[in-house]
Amino acid sequence: MRFICDDNLGKLARCLRILGFDTSFQEPISDPELLRLAATEKRCLLTRDHHLLDYTHPYGILVLEDDKPLTQLTEVIKSLNLIIEPMLLFQRCSRCNEITAPVDKAQAGNHIFPYILKTQDVIRKCPSCGRHYWKGTHYKRMIRELRQAIPDNALAGPWPEE
Ligand SMILES: [Zn+2]
Repeated sequence: MRFICDDNLGKLARCLRILGFDTSFQEPISDPELLRLAATEKRCLLTRDHHLLDYTHPYGILVLEDDKPLTQLTEVIKSLNLIIEPMLLFQRCSRCNEITAPVDKAQAGNHIFPYILKTQDVIRKCPSCGRHYWKGTHYKRMIRELRQAIPDNALAGPWPEE
């Protein structure tokens, strides 16, 4: 399932990307434009705006009640019965939604601290923004937050190690 988050839901969009879902984030545009974009890209629309329920949209509109991103994430997962594949976790750039790819550590050397290169098995890079990802402290914190937000039965396998 693919998603489009409206301009109120930037953090939710990042969380969904980390879970592996193709999720675009839209700066403010008019409702008809937003719906047209969602239909063209075949994305379920996630919003906090109840007015959007006045429209119909072939790929679904989900209005989220809570303003906290992790609670919104729980709402999305439960409402749509999403199943999360542990294999797909942390494969997508949380900033721009592109799938990241493992990099040759020798080539990444100029951009990354030697300590990280020495201690990390896999370093991934976003082909769009060039950001590097590895299983550092940010990763561990995210895993802990996601574990609280995601119901156990929504995960298709065991959680990855921290
Ligand atoms: Zn990126």
